[in-house]
Amino acid sequence: MSSDTPTTDGQSAKIEWQSAVVSSIVRQTPTITSYFFRLPQPFAYRAGQHVDVRLTAPDGYSASRSYSIASSPCKMFSDPSAEIELAIERLEEGEVSPFFHAVVQENDEIALRGPLGGHFVWPEKPAGPILLIGSGSGLVPLISMLRHACRTDNDTPVALLLSARTREDVLYRDELIAYEEKLRRFSLRLAITREPPHRDKDFGRRIDAGMLGEVLGDLPAMPAHVFICGSNGFVNIAADGALAAGLPAAAIKTERYGE
Ligand SMILES: Cc1cc2nc3c(=O)[nH]c(=O)nc-3n(C[C@H](O)[C@H](O)[C@H](O)COP(=O)(O)OP(=O)(O)OC[C@H]3O[C@@H](n4cnc5c(N)ncnc54)[C@H](O)[C@@H]3O)c2cc1C
Repeated sequence: MSSDTPTTDGQSAKIEWQSAVVSSIVRQTPTITSYFFRLPQPFAYRAGQHVDVRLTAPDGYSASRSYSIASSPCKMFSDPSAEIELAIERLEEGEVSPFFHAVVQENDEIALRGPLGGHFVWPEKPAGPILLIGSGSGLVPLISMLRHACRTDNDTPVALLLSARTREDVLYRDELIAYEEKLRRFSLRLAITREPPHRDKDFGRRIDAGMLGEVLGDLPAMPAHVFICGSNGFVNIAADGALAAGLPAAAIKTERYGE
């Protein structure tokens, strides 16, 4: 992927690069770290959108990657935010993510542009319950949606089914568990694939259609919106499961992070 690659939404040409400053770095799980960026040119965004970041080597070689925005937008979508949070998972064989984990420090300047993407966003007026399905760092746009819901919309029923290898790998685990108390109509189910689950309502296996059926039972009605995010393989399985559970294809939106 090069810096000149247009994004699928066709917006990138219009959106300028800016030099964002890393204001703080917080390790979230053994493989995922949050990077908070101060934006010299603040922008308004919707929960679920992403940015591109670009790294450039002294010899001019550059590489850019997309990262979902983890923070929630200002209460009014149209208000610009001066700081955003990204949460980046380290892929051992990768180019950009290991650089963030091994090299990037507070006060570094990183080229960044956004917001990008228009289809995978929290609806302005949800038409009914919302089902969120994520795996690993695929939680990032979904946590932005939950943070947004927590600040602005305590009425829409939301169920989150999140897959992670172990309990320790559950990104924003404490925050998610706290939402079960803060949000009146929020249900959290974890699918832990490499150790037994710690809570009775969680699952100790990979996501499948039967599990989705149980999670749908947490909602008062069939979801009007389904957001699925994670690796390509995970998204395929979760989307097939959602269709098998009777959800209409038109309600399902997906974001794919890689293979
Ligand atoms: C819209 C969008 C939003 C994204 N948001 C995030 C985010 O919030 N946090 C985040 O950590 N990543 C996110 N990604 C993925 C990110 O853009 C990079 O692909 C990822 O960081 C790997 O880049 P890299 O340079 O380290 O690895 P690369 O050098 O690009 O790839 C290394 C190898 O890993 C594979 N791979 C790439 N990504 C994944 C993956 N996620 N799972 C499994 N295999 C993969 C590649 O196909 C390749 O074989 C997002 C991607 C998109 C398209």
